[in-house]
Amino acid sequence: MKEIALSAEAVVPSKIVCIGRNYAAHAAELGNAIPDEMVVFVKSNSAISDQLLSEFGGEKLHFETEICLLHRAGRFTAVGVGLDLTRREKQNELKTKGLPWERCKSFDGAAVLSPFVDFDGELDTLRLELDIDGEVAQRGGVPQMLFPPAQILADLKTFMSLEDHDVVMTGTPAGVGPVRAGAVFDARVFAAEVLVVSQRWVAV
Ligand code: ZN
Repeated sequence: MKEIALSAEAVVPSKIVCIGRNYAAHAAELGNAIPDEMVVFVKSNSAISDQLLSEFGGEKLHFETEICLLHRAGRFTAVGVGLDLTRREKQNELKTKGLPWERCKSFDGAAVLSPFVDFDGELDTLRLELDIDGEVAQRGGVPQMLFPPAQILADLKTFMSLEDHDVVMTGTPAGVGPVRAGAVFDARVFAAEVLVVSQRWVAV
């Protein structure tokens, strides 16, 4: 099983739960309706990686930068930053056919995760920044989310058990796009103005 770093230890998430279309501006940029029910999909443990791939099987990958919350004992207790890598062409094909998304969202390397840090602050103040090659690419945070962390947890509990160390990827703000090989991604999550976690990835 794939591990992630949590402060000084290595832990194994049984799954990664992803929230789709959680920022209205991102839903709009992909031409999706604003959901009235939270959009949920799962990436398997085998999708976890610390490497940023620019393509998979010859298809260009798109990045979605997301605030990631680690679950323990019924609460979110740690924060990381992650990239929900997506085969967008394949996703559009699957969406058109009404088929499930595993081929475009849960391939090996599709969940790029930073180390996680313990967090007992105010989840509603979390926000993320992504710069690519030093240029602003994505900005957003819980205040722009349609479903903030407390609501995500409450909704998931109605149908899905979270194990200790499961990770929730909370959706991406506007500004997604293709990953260019060699590009330098700098991602940061802040609680208000305080830096919580940062990670640099260089796309291969
Ligand atoms: Zn996503």
